[in-house]
Amino acid sequence: MSSTDGAGREAARGGAAGPRSRYPRARPVVLAATSGTGKTTIARRLVENSDRYVFSISATTRPPRHGERDGVDYHFLGTEEFERRIEAGDFVEWARVHDRLYGTPLSEIESEANRGRHVVLDIDVQGARQIKDAIPDAVLIFVLPPSVDIMMVRLKRRGTEPPETIARRLISALDELQAVPDFDHVVVNDDLDQCLAEIRGIVEEGVEPEAPELDADHFREQVARILDSEYSPYVQDQQ
Ligand code: 5GP
Repeated sequence: MSSTDGAGREAARGGAAGPRSRYPRARPVVLAATSGTGKTTIARRLVENSDRYVFSISATTRPPRHGERDGVDYHFLGTEEFERRIEAGDFVEWARVHDRLYGTPLSEIESEANRGRHVVLDIDVQGARQIKDAIPDAVLIFVLPPSVDIMMVRLKRRGTEPPETIARRLISALDELQAVPDFDHVVVNDDLDQCLAEIRGIVEEGVEPEAPELDADHFREQVARILDSEYSPYVQDQQ
């Protein structure tokens, strides 16, 4: 006969532990952002610097970029296999992003969260909305760049992107910025270390960050203006 009491059994099952439990199930962290915000760097740094965070490895049908490894950066799948997994209910969410499929495997998130590790999900806003429905204790954080000018510099600095691609990312940004009210928190990635500290504070201690000076609606208007003035020849094909 086990001597585990009710709260212990609850914690062992990974369910909602009692309010006095120090480390109940760890909340998954969903990061979303517009391109050029440094979201992937933030996700990597969270995981590298703490054994309390672990990266969720998504599946995708896009081909690997130079240096990316299967099972480390993504699970790279063919479209048929991806669709089979959707049918099998393997993904907690999936979405089409820039004409490719991306999905989050459910099993990893649940097992890590129940082991007390925060699973960091670096996904798009469509996926983030689905996670909120499927995993109610997930913390949704939207990361903004410090300004539109800095976002543009970061986008162009990738160096590999033709203007069509930049235009497409700006169009996506318009959609993404509309989703900001669905998020629990907004943080600005001006100084990376400070941004990381804010995110850790939110996730681990429930600390409310200071309200960002950046207004997402105003930001969105500025993106629309740049798209219109600098990228209009590339926009039409994409709508
Ligand atoms: P990339 O191809 O540049 O790695 O990612 C393109 C976009 O897909 C990014 O916005 C990224 O956050 C998003 N993404 C990556 N994995 C997932 C996922 O599992 N689900 C969803 N919905 N989006 C994802």
